[in-house]
Amino acid sequence: MRCRSPSALLWARQLRPLQSGPNMRHQGGMKTPQNIAIVGAGIGGLAAACLLRDAGHDITVFDRFDGPRPIGSGLVIQPVGQEVLARIGIAEDVIAKGAKITRMFGHEAVSKRPVLNVQYDRNTAGAFGLGIHRATLFGALWEAAQSRGVVVRASCAAQGAQDGVLTFEGGVRHGPYDLIIDASGANSPLSPIASKPLPFGAIWGTVDWPQTALPRRELRQVYRRAERMIGVLPLGQMPGDTAQKAAIFWSLPVADYGAWLERGLDAWKAEAEDLWPEFAPFAAQITDPSQMTMATYTHGTLRRPYRDNVVHIGDAAHRASPQLGQGANMALLDALALARAIDMANGQDPAKLYAQARRAHVWCYQTFSAIFTPQYQSDSRMLPALRDRVLYPASQVWPIPKVLTALVCGDMIPPLASLNR
Ligand SMILES: Cc1cc2nc3c(=O)[nH]c(=O)nc-3n(C[C@H](O)[C@H](O)[C@H](O)COP(=O)(O)OP(=O)(O)OC[C@H]3O[C@@H](n4cnc5c(N)ncnc54)[C@H](O)[C@@H]3O)c2cc1C
Repeated sequence: MRCRSPSALLWARQLRPLQSGPNMRHQGGMKTPQNIAIVGAGIGGLAAACLLRDAGHDITVFDRFDGPRPIGSGLVIQPVGQEVLARIGIAEDVIAKGAKITRMFGHEAVSKRPVLNVQYDRNTAGAFGLGIHRATLFGALWEAAQSRGVVVRASCAAQGAQDGVLTFEGGVRHGPYDLIIDASGANSPLSPIASKPLPFGAIWGTVDWPQTALPRRELRQVYRRAERMIGVLPLGQMPGDTAQKAAIFWSLPVADYGAWLERGLDAWKAEAEDLWPEFAPFAAQITDPSQMTMATYTHGTLRRPYRDNVVHIGDAAHRASPQLGQGANMALLDALALARAIDMANGQDPAKLYAQARRAHVWCYQTFSAIFTPQYQSDSRMLPALRDRVLYPASQVWPIPKVLTALVCGDMIPPLASLNR
């Protein structure tokens, strides 16, 4: 249970390197490169494309977008995710562009009592979370895939897969492929996942880092019970812009988004300032409601993230609220686990190996996400009271702070299990 900085990540250093050069599938003792299709040029899909291309496979990525179009706001790449980026060769670049986060800190708006306090370097000196805009991360992964000669086909919205053949809108078919990787995210048309919509979502925006007393190395959150969560996440720079950025977020019930629009920005800013005066210079930069995008969340996990020749990774295999800040990291870990499983299969089913290796880690994080989310985003009166009066004080007693740090860093249990040999 250790949180480690990328350079010190033991589990990753122990990994055997992925075999380079053409190889992989055993055919009568010979290995041949596999012909692999990846659906979705997002975080997991591009990471898998890079890792599998490095192992010598033929990769074609399909995305429904018309061209590279990173959407969304900020996210945190935890130390486990940073290590996957290091294996792709982009960690240094991405870390230089993002913002190093040393602590996640939150307090209750009315009582002013601290409710969250997780320090990244509690288990490993120098460990940090990396606050980054999705566009910056996407840009680095996109360049890495391009430099490896990965073929990306845009305007290809997959609809189904059968016997290794992908079908797209308009009846177009591609294949057959030895393997299809479904990395098409939370609305995957290929995944049979049954997920539950969560009642709370959040509006997200990206603004310049203003003149403020808030530290630029901390993710800060303020709560009013669990019905409101306001946050500021330092992001570093965005492509083509030298200004330091921040992601801001404001949780609300999904059904209340229309009411938020109707109330108008002035009422929102006044409420925000009342709850958290330090939020004012961030909110002041929002002059049009369209600068804040409503994000909704779902929760669900595929028990068996593969069938026939299709393997699901990332949000297509498991989705949760971003409360623990793990979604992108899970997608990166899935990509690495699958690449390793294909490398190490040696006649076994790589999809099964991948699923076995990721099962416990995915289960652990999905469970903790389900437990924590209602404490911070729900209508409950009891849960936030329990959080503030019992759970937070208990969380400051040894060894819980170390456990929480490991949980946030992403390595509370080994992320690759049997593939970490
Ligand atoms: C508001 C918000 C905040 C978040 N904060 C964090 C955080 O702090 N830390 C963290 O780790 N995670 C965070 N996450 C979660 C994280 O963004 C996701 O878990 C992660 O992006 C999943 O990666 P993915 O590769 O599975 O899917 P995505 O990155 O969503 O990529 C899916 C790709 O598939 C493409 N696609 C979709 N359908 C089709 C189709 N039919 N055919 C072809 N292509 C298709 C899409 O265009 C897209 O390019 C957050 C999520 C949200 C919504």
